[in-house]
Amino acid sequence: MGPPNPLDFYDVTALLSDDERLIRDTVGRFVDREVTPLMADCFAAERFPSELVPRLADLGLFGATLHDYGCAGLGSTAYGVICEELERGDSSVRSCVSVQSSLVMGAIHAFGSEDQRSRWLPQLARGTKLGCFGLTESHGGSDPARMRTRARRHGGDWVLDGAKHWITNGALADVSVTWAMTDDGVKAFLVEKGAGGYEARVIKNKLSLRASSTAELAFASVRVPDSARLPEANGIKAALRCLDDARFGIAWGACGAARACLDSVLQYTQSRELFGRPLNHTQLIQTRLADGVRKLTAAQLVAWRLAKLKEQGVAHNAQVSLAKWNNVRAALDIARDCRDMLGAAGITLDHVPMRHMLNLETVITYEGTESIHELVVGRALTGQSAF
Ligand code: FAD
Repeated sequence: MGPPNPLDFYDVTALLSDDERLIRDTVGRFVDREVTPLMADCFAAERFPSELVPRLADLGLFGATLHDYGCAGLGSTAYGVICEELERGDSSVRSCVSVQSSLVMGAIHAFGSEDQRSRWLPQLARGTKLGCFGLTESHGGSDPARMRTRARRHGGDWVLDGAKHWITNGALADVSVTWAMTDDGVKAFLVEKGAGGYEARVIKNKLSLRASSTAELAFASVRVPDSARLPEANGIKAALRCLDDARFGIAWGACGAARACLDSVLQYTQSRELFGRPLNHTQLIQTRLADGVRKLTAAQLVAWRLAKLKEQGVAHNAQVSLAKWNNVRAALDIARDCRDMLGAAGITLDHVPMRHMLNLETVITYEGTESIHELVVGRALTGQSAF
């Protein structure tokens, strides 16, 4: 028996079903052939590769866990392996799929009317429409319940005023799931591109997730009919439920970014000769590689187990928080160490670790910062909310 695969040290592959393995291999091939070759240029040019959207749709990756309306109805583990493979390419591509799937289609599927579901979900699944999820505001993303965007009743319509910040796909989206405070608590509205008073402005000069399109959304007396309100989305808990699903995908996705970094450094340290021998013959490099594999292996097992808890319908939100926190922290630390093991070459886009490292600076912040997830776990341990 040979040594374990360094990128799957405890053979998580053996825990996947035949279908899940097929999905992983199919998405993996797509990432190797069509995603990874684009990403250095997209990152440098601050460009989202929109040309991938029809391919992502052809592969059934939008809304993959949802049932009916043209969606594949896959399980959580299958969604996890999709996110892992996509993020092996770049966090921006996984982010686009997470937003479209968990945050937009997930919200419409769970909280929408039958008319909203049958109008939007098939188009979002086919990728002929893109969506975004407008929750965060500039004055404090960690505390979304204090949102200032307001929706007021005007006869049979609603009028929205306010602004959302840091919205993935915001400027590309045909529809925004927009969360707003009403006299009756937080509600969600489907605001369509072109609505009077609605504007999306791209946020430029990001140093992280550069291949993702991020925008600020402005709402100046935007009038929408009551039929644009998601009837079952009541209270901030509805938004948090969508986020829990997306965070689960992030926990898997982070493993993909970490795998890409370790893969590149395992090869590099084998071929790089210093002091008359390959770099990977030295003790310090071996302990760093071993430490990276240790962190990746723990993250993969956490992700896999969380998928099983989700499939049984018993995943607690603190378990999702621990996985998002642990796995993104692991991936970020791995990416930084891999960058260093490449020496000067590691600061260029010719090697993947620094691109992943910079992307992961966003991934550790969005969908709940690391500290907020630690506090969610702390609340589960003590019964006391410290935030
Ligand atoms: P703040 O909430 O201001 O936090 C600042 C710091 O304070 C952090 O370190 C935080 O951990 C810490 N902190 C906060 N509260 C406490 C506390 N009680 N105790 C201790 N420390 C605390 N949002 C969307 O709605 N939709 C999107 O599609 C989306 N996409 C994004 C894409 C990108 C590229 C980025 C960067 C962000 C995106 N976000 C999106 C927003 C993201 O979710 C928020 O940035 C995140 O929730 C943090 O909010 P904030 O940036 O306002 O930081």
